Amino acid sequence: MRYLIISDIHANLVALEAVLADAPDFTEIWCLGDLVGYGPNPNECIERIQEHLHVCLAGNHDWAVLGKLDLRNFNTDARNANTWTRSELTSESRMYLSKLPTHMEHEGFYLAHASPREPVWEYILDASIAYTNFSHFSTLVCLVGHTHVAIAFELDEQRQRCETIISPLSTPLELGPNRMIINPGSVGQPRDGDPRASYALLDAENMTWEFHRVAYPIEITQERMRARGLPRRLIERLEMGR
Ligand code: ZN
Repeated sequence: MRYLIISDIHANLVALEAVLADAPDFTEIWCLGDLVGYGPNPNECIERIQEHLHVCLAGNHDWAVLGKLDLRNFNTDARNANTWTRSELTSESRMYLSKLPTHMEHEGFYLAHASPREPVWEYILDASIAYTNFSHFSTLVCLVGHTHVAIAFELDEQRQRCETIISPLSTPLELGPNRMIINPGSVGQPRDGDPRASYALLDAENMTWEFHRVAYPIEITQERMRARGLPRRLIERLEMGR
């Protein structure tokens, strides 16, 4: 079985469409949360993902839009975008988001939006933070989103340390025997310096993982954000991938 692994779409429908068009055959989508917030097309992204067989987690922005998180925990731009999203969301979209879990075990993999230790909030930014999270799940591999950075961390149990794995794009990364925490990066608002939409393919039979990037017409998303009065800094950062 091949799975399309995506995260942090953030209502960027143009980026999501580019990923769906670019991804080779897959049987199911695994979405690691933050469907909404920041971008201009929250309802459309929620509808689009439901056209596929999929599982999906709730992220902090999804929770905030439902009122499950205090917006004071967000910076001004994120708060303003989230307030706009709240006013846009249809009752069907609300219903969909309200049913999403923040973490789950699925097909032998552990999935969490942010981290296995704190599924909604913790940022796994480096190997030392990743290391402390391995005791919070029991599967071989854990998949997370939230940082908007495509990255993999591998546990070296003997030396009691964790290392960052650099895997070239579109090149299969072997999973196992060492345990790993892997982030597919962000579809709708990458922050690793590459503005192209990020996604990954997981081959659960051959136990391989591939990171992928696909260019999309960023200016269309930016134009839609301008038309909706979304914060300028959020519009500009899309083309920088920061
Ligand atoms: Zn996010």
